[in-house]
Amino acid sequence: MKKETDPDPWAVAWVMRAVVLIAFLAALAVPTGLVPIIAVATDTQGELTQVEGPIVISLGAPEPTSTPIPALTPTPHLPRIGIVAGHSGHDSGAVCPDGLQEVDINIDVSQRVVRLLTDYGWDVDLLEEFDVRLFGYQADALLSIHADSCNVPGKTGFKVARAEGSFIPDPEDRLVDCLSRHYAEHTELEFDPFTITYDMRRYHAFYEINPNTPAAIIETGFMLEDRELLTERPEVVAGGIVAGLICFVEGE
Ligand SMILES: [Zn+2]
Repeated sequence: MKKETDPDPWAVAWVMRAVVLIAFLAALAVPTGLVPIIAVATDTQGELTQVEGPIVISLGAPEPTSTPIPALTPTPHLPRIGIVAGHSGHDSGAVCPDGLQEVDINIDVSQRVVRLLTDYGWDVDLLEEFDVRLFGYQADALLSIHADSCNVPGKTGFKVARAEGSFIPDPEDRLVDCLSRHYAEHTELEFDPFTITYDMRRYHAFYEINPNTPAAIIETGFMLEDRELLTERPEVVAGGIVAGLICFVEGE
């Protein structure tokens, strides 16, 4: 006698037929894209294989490594320096009886300074006396280059000054100190603290640039007594200025 709990052989047979039919239909459907995702072996690069039709995802592949890894070493700071060629783009500056103009000395020295510092690898802006770029100018240092007048017989020497009432007196004093020492060493001119004028301490550019940019003005020598240095050895003048700026930016 048949037990109530025994499965009906006919029912089992129909279930099995149904399972086989579903599996058969599914196998047919995969290549058509109706079952869109299939697993495949990966290629050697471990990259996704792009094919028409179904999306293919590789199995056992490493994570794609196309995302660039950012460099861990920070870019070193490139010093930036502004050089104002005194009076350039505006006027002649001091003029000697024989026609020698201060602006020509200033431009010659400034161009040499810019070339030397650029060769040294720094970022340098050559600026005119009333350059629009001076407003809010940001750099590691700004230096305005001038020369003293022709009308003081017997007077020799140079001077460097920073702004009266400086916003950053410590770095600006260091800038003046570096420039003074190295300029004196290179040119063998004496620092002349007694003819530093109001005009130097209240130099217009000091109050136009960003107050955090250390700035100074240099009078490289007198156009009468120091003429030979200024006009025939401008590379020495420029070398002293460059040494002073490197002293300030890189320290000693
Ligand atoms: Zn001047």
